Amino acid sequence: MKDTFKHKGMRQQLVDTLESKGIKDKDVLNAIGKVPRHLFMDSGFIDHAYVDKAFPIAADQTISQPYTVAFQTELLQIKSGDKVLEIGTGSGYQCAVLIELGAKVYSIERQQELFKKTSKFLPKIGYRAKKLIFGDGYKGLKEEAPFDGIIVTAGAPFAPKPLLSQLAIGGRLVIPVGDDVQIMTLFIRKGTKEFEKHELGEFRFVPMLEDKN
Ligand code: SAH
Repeated sequence: MKDTFKHKGMRQQLVDTLESKGIKDKDVLNAIGKVPRHLFMDSGFIDHAYVDKAFPIAADQTISQPYTVAFQTELLQIKSGDKVLEIGTGSGYQCAVLIELGAKVYSIERQQELFKKTSKFLPKIGYRAKKLIFGDGYKGLKEEAPFDGIIVTAGAPFAPKPLLSQLAIGGRLVIPVGDDVQIMTLFIRKGTKEFEKHELGEFRFVPMLEDKN
């Protein structure tokens, strides 16, 4: 599991691409410049790691496109020490980007195979989430709420109520909402019952599925 000079160069090119596509937050760009994305993919596919594309991982899932990861992360406006909940751990790549930004990350995955694989892999390359959970993201993680940020990395049919209610006041939920195509949606909690909603363009994700545990 090496991170070579060549990989670093390819990563810098990816960062330049993301910047040219409109990502502005320097901290987010720096984090993407640091996380060795090629290690999150099977070794046969390393050439695809630094192209701005989604890619298949285990259990019929995908590692999100770098632009999508950057776009969602930018919307979260993470400050070091923020408590962040991720739904859909998948390969762990988005989780690593959040950890690079200094977030305390809790991440939920419903596919046992991926949960096991990523739980072993992330600490091995030095990324320590606060907690990786095997479970259903629709429920959120009540015992650790409130969160400064919640990010959903699968296409959700609607914004689940528990996720909205587990946001801190001032907290942000970033969630792609829709069936075939999703609208990236940002909810900002303004008060106990008040939420501001912003819709930020179309994306395509694998679906957020109901619990099958
Ligand atoms: N963040 C991941 C992207 C993974 S794709 C990465 O950086 O690689 C979306 C993931 O969401 C898949 O792993 C899928 O199994 C998971 N998922 C789908 N529905 C879910 C649910 N209800 N709860 C938790 N995870 C879910």
